Amino acid sequence: MLIVSAASEVSPFAKTGGLGDVTGSLPLALRKLGHQILTFLPRYRTIDIKKNRLSIVIDPLEIPLGKEKLTARIYNARHPSGAEFYFVDQPDLFLRDEFYGTASSDYPDNDRRFAFFQRAVLETLRALSLKPDILHCHDWQTGLIPAYLKTRYAKDALFKKTRTVFTVHNLAYQGNFPPDSLPLTGIGWEEYKMEKLEFYGKVSFMKGGLVYADAVTTVSERYSREIQTEEFGCGMDKVLAHRQDSVYGIINGLDYEEWGPETDKDIAQSYGVESAAKKKINKAALQKSEDFTVDPAIPLFGVISRLIDQKGIDILVASLDALAALGGQLVVLGTGDEKYHHVLRELGRRHRGRFGIHIVFDAARAKHIYAGCDFMLVPSYYEPCGLAHLVALRYGTIPVVRATGGLADTVEEFNPETGKGNGFRFEAYKSEALLQAIERGLAVFKDKKDWNALVHNAMTCDFSWDASAKRYSDLFEKISQGVKKS
Ligand code: ADP
Repeated sequence: MLIVSAASEVSPFAKTGGLGDVTGSLPLALRKLGHQILTFLPRYRTIDIKKNRLSIVIDPLEIPLGKEKLTARIYNARHPSGAEFYFVDQPDLFLRDEFYGTASSDYPDNDRRFAFFQRAVLETLRALSLKPDILHCHDWQTGLIPAYLKTRYAKDALFKKTRTVFTVHNLAYQGNFPPDSLPLTGIGWEEYKMEKLEFYGKVSFMKGGLVYADAVTTVSERYSREIQTEEFGCGMDKVLAHRQDSVYGIINGLDYEEWGPETDKDIAQSYGVESAAKKKINKAALQKSEDFTVDPAIPLFGVISRLIDQKGIDILVASLDALAALGGQLVVLGTGDEKYHHVLRELGRRHRGRFGIHIVFDAARAKHIYAGCDFMLVPSYYEPCGLAHLVALRYGTIPVVRATGGLADTVEEFNPETGKGNGFRFEAYKSEALLQAIERGLAVFKDKKDWNALVHNAMTCDFSWDASAKRYSDLFEKISQGVKKS
């Protein structure tokens, strides 16, 4: 199949979070399955033409934007795997310091920027006479593409067989704009209705994907169900419930080439499933660098996270005095809300020599923490998929998670009786529940045989992209053939 993917960020060219990881890794994995794959993204300032060896494919390409016509230049680059990347270059719209806005606010013309980007994707396909089998769109920045295919481009022979898939990476970011954004998009007012693009008096780009796409996917099975409830639906729960026959959950994979203790050059000592005992060298190195007592018998906990409400930082901080009382050591790495920086620093002072608090984004330090800790705490309030616990599993660091979204789909409570399970999980969003899970973890930690079995289970889980890409590929085949959800 010819699969065309469009996203506002694609690793390694442009990335601020998990979205970029997925849109960068999935094409390579789909390529391995034999598909032809093109991925579109804007050319931001950070994407250097020379360094990335971009070549011009179309110049100029005229794109309508409301009553105006703007020109774009389209570049492409080919990855050694054969996957191709297309870049929409429009200096006024995309050559800026950030992708979406400054720290204090979003760019005021994000409606123009991403309406333009989406039209540019479709106009490039037209100019090159490419007939995609699947158009795979990600998050609100590309939510209008499925709407275009059912409206403005509905009669275009080129897209006659094209089916659209819209993937929600985080429903909380919706791209809702005032109604006067609609004329910019070139979509008519007849689509501005509650059942279509209108959302509480705004035009919602996200809704374009949710309503018009042939299939909607989210990044875990559990999250696909959670977002159909009022608690996690961000106002879109009814829209999603209405489409439940076309909503699927496909867990993200982890890039096993980027993350793996066997090949990791940043950590003190590499190790693998068969040499998991060497992990303790990393633990000792981490304890030493944190000025903690160096002792393999002291349980060492890690947290690597954005420090925001979504990540459960409030129940985490409420449990930390108790964690210290249980004899644990703790390393926290993260940035986010000032209120959490403040309490965590305070806790760090209170438990000096036991807690190490690092309010910074530091990819190299993250690796030391993944490799050196015994446990990784991920108490999220909600988590569409989550990467930190998947990385932790790969490094034999045992996740303690709240059973939500992708965490619930991938972490199974360890049962010492059966020897099954890869971590510890709790249901209630309460610090007491987190602490109970930690205590269950500590009981296993004290029993060397059980603990080794648990670490082995964690390290042998397979959350690589291969399995997830196969699921996307199966879904693409299914909707191309018009097969309904079973
Ligand atoms: P989200 O995308 O919602 O922030 P994920 O769990 O999907 O959460 O991905 C977070 C990724 O970012 C993980 O790979 C984690 O290791 C990394 N990360 C988060 N905070 C930091 C930090 N302060 N320093 C280094 N890496 C971090």
